[in-house]
Amino acid sequence: MLTVELTKKWMELFYAQIDQEKAYLSELDTPIGDGDHGNNMKRGVDGVKDSLAKLKDPTLKETLRTIAMALISKVGGASGPLYGTAFLEMAKKCDESQEPAILFAAALEGIKKRGGAKEGDKTMVDVWAPTVKALTDGSFGTEQIKQAVASTKEMIARKGRASYLGERSVGHLDPGAMSSGYLFETFIAAGG
Ligand code: ADP
Ligand code: MG
Ligand code: MG
Repeated sequence: MLTVELTKKWMELFYAQIDQEKAYLSELDTPIGDGDHGNNMKRGVDGVKDSLAKLKDPTLKETLRTIAMALISKVGGASGPLYGTAFLEMAKKCDESQEPAILFAAALEGIKKRGGAKEGDKTMVDVWAPTVKALTDGSFGTEQIKQAVASTKEMIARKGRASYLGERSVGHLDPGAMSSGYLFETFIAAGG
């Protein structure tokens, strides 16, 4: 069950992970993008931290919506509106259910709709989609997440900046897949 407490803990751990790995995320974005993914995400999580700190006794819906707005306004880059949409869709769904499998499935649908990427296009969808599936079949876990991230290495990019490289994008991990991997790993570490 996703709660306000769990979400706050999750965001603290995600913030720390992005802070620690921001150089690596930008490094992943260099050969197949414009080298800014780590800085984009760092700005985003800084924004999340500031806006969550201002909330007093928020509901889960307010918490998720606040995260979404901070990511949309602060990340910049293609990943910002996509992560923002993910949290906005969770905010919409959370009155109906607080089950992670259901909330993340709604988020995934939002990401796909907004960005138009399918599984296999070498984007964050390649981590979100198998992870949503894993949450329903019981295989959800750190190993499963790492495998999903690793699977992007051999894919040809069909969406986002990396798609400009076509086949030359093969052999590189997708940076947004890596940051999504951190998002789910920190969800587990937070107790989710
Ligand atoms: P930008 O490419 O604008 O510099 P970032 O570097 O912050 O933005 O984010 C790049 C990441 O965003 C990619 O690695 C990919 O995972 C994700 N991404 C880009 N376009 C799409 C899309 N249409 N659908 C899903 N994810 C996408
Ligand atoms: Mg970039
Ligand atoms: Mg950019």
